[in-house]
Amino acid sequence: MTAPLPWLQTQWGQVSRQMEQGRLPHALLLTGPTGVGKLTLARALTRSLLCEQRSDEGAACGECRGCRLMAAGTHPDTVEISPEEDSKVIKIDQIRTLSSYLSLTTQYGGAKVALVHPADALNVNAANSLLKTLEEPAAHAVLILCTSRPASLPATVRSRCQTLRVGIPPADVAAQWLAPQLQSGEFSAEQLLALASGAPLAAAALVGSDSLACRRRVVEGLAAVVTGRQDPVSVSSEWLKAGAELPLYWLYSVTTDIIRLRSSPEHGASVANADLMATLQRIGERVNLRELFARHDQLTAALRAARGQANPQLLLEDLLIGWTPST
Ligand SMILES: [Zn+2]
Repeated sequence: MTAPLPWLQTQWGQVSRQMEQGRLPHALLLTGPTGVGKLTLARALTRSLLCEQRSDEGAACGECRGCRLMAAGTHPDTVEISPEEDSKVIKIDQIRTLSSYLSLTTQYGGAKVALVHPADALNVNAANSLLKTLEEPAAHAVLILCTSRPASLPATVRSRCQTLRVGIPPADVAAQWLAPQLQSGEFSAEQLLALASGAPLAAAALVGSDSLACRRRVVEGLAAVVTGRQDPVSVSSEWLKAGAELPLYWLYSVTTDIIRLRSSPEHGASVANADLMATLQRIGERVNLRELFARHDQLTAALRAARGQANPQLLLEDLLIGWTPST
């Protein structure tokens, strides 16, 4: 069967073969960067598992009762678990409910499929609770965990799953997939892919999103702080209108570019934010390379802190203070 996305042939070939041979493990761990299609792969596998007349190659028919219920989002034998609204974590209660759900017999006699994403959002108690289900899975149960940060999962959970890695696809494959979806707009497929570190679904999601406007605000704000035209507090409040995650992502992206430009100007070709290169060069001229590396390290730590309980306003202010001109 054709893979759900062109760069997933290997992974799809593996799971569909296992499915046909009845050797699909009870737990799969799909890993890889954000925006490469882990969830798409997991959902395609779910559809195939619940199809009542799938093809020899593992393709869901799209017409049977199972497929119709899947399309309507009402199939009783599958469930997706994510952090509840306003929460960053998957809680133990959600996993307890999931475990008892998986232990029940299936409504339609096929598999019972649970999708947990992002699996790194499982808090410690939830992960421990999930471990029990992984150790003694019901015969019909298939658990699919998706994460871009497998190291955040306990080794005990990881070791009970078959890991399937989805990497960044070759640039030409990604661009061929993305280009036909773009209206003639501000950015080419290649530019969007560069901004999304090569992850095709993340690149597609940039089109028409607030993310690109946030990127512009980050570059303008950074330039204003570096030249002393604006103070870190007002700039960080401005950035926070988009939440903390996006400004941090773009600050990381542009800081990496500034270091590239600063350390060797011929790296101009490899910067992600090529359209804003002139501004990035001007920022880079005001900060020496050693300080830039310090800012980069600080940013890496801030990205980690942002996943926890850190106060986003203080986090951004703290980062921006590092960029203020020394007096
Ligand atoms: Zn079907």
